Amino acid sequence: MPTRPAPIRIAIVGLGKIARDQHLPAIDKTPGIELAAIVSRNAALPGTPSFPHLQDLLASDTPFDAVALCAPPQVRHAQAALALAAGKHVLLEKPPGATTSELEPLRAAAAHARLTLFASWHSRFAAAVEPARARLAGRLIHAVRIDWMEDVRVWHPGQAWIFEPGGLGVFDPGINALSILTRILPHPPFVTAATLQTPENKQAPSAATIDLTDANGLPIRAEFDFLQTGPQTWDIELDTDQGPLRLSHGASRLTDNGQPIPMPESAEYPGLYRHFRDLVAQRRSDLDLAPLALVADAFLLARRSSAPPFHE
Ligand code: NAP
Repeated sequence: MPTRPAPIRIAIVGLGKIARDQHLPAIDKTPGIELAAIVSRNAALPGTPSFPHLQDLLASDTPFDAVALCAPPQVRHAQAALALAAGKHVLLEKPPGATTSELEPLRAAAAHARLTLFASWHSRFAAAVEPARARLAGRLIHAVRIDWMEDVRVWHPGQAWIFEPGGLGVFDPGINALSILTRILPHPPFVTAATLQTPENKQAPSAATIDLTDANGLPIRAEFDFLQTGPQTWDIELDTDQGPLRLSHGASRLTDNGQPIPMPESAEYPGLYRHFRDLVAQRRSDLDLAPLALVADAFLLARRSSAPPFHE
């Protein structure tokens, strides 16, 4: 009888909102992955070995195979480099880093050690993404419109890092839309113009627009706002030669020509962990940096203006 591979023992590094809301339940649901340890400066999980810093876990005798890096992007590179040097597979929360250039040494280290390095984009595992990609493959797309608008006070309470350098500001959610866009379009998009509005007491924007296109001149407009109160908007609409295709509610729903397409319930993080498990089994990496490159290019090309100071 074929033997089942041993489960991947994973440590969560950074026990914040996303680790508690999504990573812990998804690990629990994924056959072949089990929680081995927690690294948190401020918290512990009863019944699970917990350490204040990754160095402490590495120095301990707690066995583990992989880390899920769930701290803010500004500290991602140092933690990933440490884990790879210690022979651990690495799952990077999004965005995979604070810069695009810091990812190349990690890619090389993972390849050299035959370890898995996964730049995870959770929104790509939303239910409507692959069906939308399949429908668009046979169509002519005339225009794309992205509206990604949420209330930072509701979704990121107390997260001061988000408005610091490298925190991305409104691109922290906006990059999710760009991760979907880069997955569903048949040709890679690139940035042609951008505007950024940054609160005068902060370092990262609270609102942004990006104009993009592709090799065929497709017009793409993205509007991002971090101060939207009331109903929240996470929509992508594509005008095509066969009518409008619309991904809404963070790509958990799809309508084609105004007709709702039945979708299973979105299960982004379980999908993401299954993919990580399969990558580790094959000793492969998945490091698509296209969404981060679009954000970096928006920062390079942007016209900037000040917005009123932001206070929580
Ligand atoms: P968070 O609630 O602020 O948690 C981040 C955790 O990282 C903190 O609890 C802290 O953990 C640790 N941390 C913070 N600063 C650190 C530092 N300087 N050095 C080491 N550790 C530090 O943030 P979050 O919302 O979970 O977001 C974390 C990442 O997940 C971000 O990249 C974000 O884009 C991504 N994400 C967030 C969401 C969401 O809805 N919030 C959704 C998808 C992805 P300890 O106190 O435990 O050390």
